[in-house]
Amino acid sequence: MTMQNVGRPTRPEGAGETSGFASLTGGRGLLQDEPLIFELGGWSKTGVDLPPAEEPSDLAGLTRESLPLPGLSEPETMRHYVRLSQKNHAIDLALYPLGSCTMKHNPRLNEKAARMAGFADLHPLAPLATTQGALELMDRLAHWLKTLTGMPAVALTPKAGAHGELCGLLCIKAAHEAAGQAHRRTVLVPTSAHGTNPATAAFVGYSVQEIAQTEDGRVDLADLEAKLGPDVAAIMVTNPNTCGLFERDVIEIARITHAHGAYFYCDGANFNAIVGRVRPGDLGVDAMHINLHKTFSTPHGGGGPGAGPVVLSAALAPFAPAPWVVHGPDGLTLVEEAADDAAQAFGRMSAFQGQMGMFVRAYAYMRSHGADGLRQVAEDAVLNANYIKARLSDVMTPAFPDGPCMHEALFDDAWLEGTGVTTLDFAKAMIDEGFHPMTMYFPLVVHGAMLIEPTETESKRELDRFCDALRALAAAAKLGDVDRFKGAPHLAPLRRLDETLAARKPKLTWKPEAEFA
Ligand SMILES: *Cc1c(COP(=O)(O)O)cnc(C)c1O
Repeated sequence: MTMQNVGRPTRPEGAGETSGFASLTGGRGLLQDEPLIFELGGWSKTGVDLPPAEEPSDLAGLTRESLPLPGLSEPETMRHYVRLSQKNHAIDLALYPLGSCTMKHNPRLNEKAARMAGFADLHPLAPLATTQGALELMDRLAHWLKTLTGMPAVALTPKAGAHGELCGLLCIKAAHEAAGQAHRRTVLVPTSAHGTNPATAAFVGYSVQEIAQTEDGRVDLADLEAKLGPDVAAIMVTNPNTCGLFERDVIEIARITHAHGAYFYCDGANFNAIVGRVRPGDLGVDAMHINLHKTFSTPHGGGGPGAGPVVLSAALAPFAPAPWVVHGPDGLTLVEEAADDAAQAFGRMSAFQGQMGMFVRAYAYMRSHGADGLRQVAEDAVLNANYIKARLSDVMTPAFPDGPCMHEALFDDAWLEGTGVTTLDFAKAMIDEGFHPMTMYFPLVVHGAMLIEPTETESKRELDRFCDALRALAAAAKLGDVDRFKGAPHLAPLRRLDETLAARKPKLTWKPEAEFA
């Protein structure tokens, strides 16, 4: 299998030209074109009725003549934000098949629990005597996370998966330093790893070395063993991996890693596929982050707030960051400074106790599913992915055709060869059919990768609608209907964006009109 270095191609020549019907105003159906809020309304208007300002007495020379705030009425403001919200795809609108992201339904029960005043109105500096219930919830959540993973300790404060990786590697670094092993400066990462793994290792100051992958999409044990040496601090392996496959040799991976004095960091983003069935602690894992927004259904916010607790083995537990909850004579309390036995803690990951709203949602999800329900989550997630793999394998090419997959179905672009259609074109055409594209061009080891993760919350009817759409598109590509794909999306308000330009030269500010400049 050849490495895909191309990444995400940008706008092809001529793409974005409108073929066929165009509305007169730029809107598409009931989706209207929406300018920035600053470009709407005028500066002289206001949406509220304020009494005239009193003449300031001692503010001479300090008052502003005008304030550049958009002057919109309440209905205009409402419509602006509702129109913007309609431009966002959401799990509440349709299946969201982004592989590796586990875009599952967020149960409303979780939202109800998170909005209870005792949780929603908490302040991180509130006296502990007034926050016993919240501390108890954190303690119980920690208990469930430790039980489900078979690990003795958990750090709750990291704010996301990547932040959890940072926490885990900082624990590993502290453990090596405490053992006089500070010379271990390398982290081994498989070629199929999520980009955050090597990025985190580099951020901690480690150098990163790649571990090769076998033809059937797993860690190449011989290559791993050859690269393990006295300079290796840790390996970072995702299980199930980003090809949607279980690492069959995971116990052997842990054994040889430990035999060489290194730690096993497991990227737990795919825990959804094994929760309730496999305990990472039994596999020899030393540290693993859990994306509460993936496995435990808390919302994927637009960049936050999130939570990525990290479970730790007995060897790493003493290095966990403060604060943590302990049972004391006067109820629950927080250890804010690591002292005595705990003095090895490497410090803090965040200012306070972590994301309470996410803790409440994740705990509500666990309790409403129960142990048997969480096990069924993993089973149904795997069943749904295999259903998609089975329904599409005669028209698309699965990257690893032999055997079942775990919770995501991975296809390559071999089936598009000779059609003139690329993975990107195919994904854009999915938008016209009302579906959010799958993860594209990741993992990098699979050419033109299309990684589809349905999650367990999709019904058979929804899965069939999705598969029917992909089958119809696949047929169109093979029949030579190239224009459908090259011009796609035809029905979205904006067409093909120049992603490279947007990333290299982002426009992050809006320049006010001359009168305010
Ligand atoms: C999502 C994901 C991450 C990063 O998690 P964030 O919460 O987005 O920081 C890391 N690894 C894998 C495999 C993932 O899918």
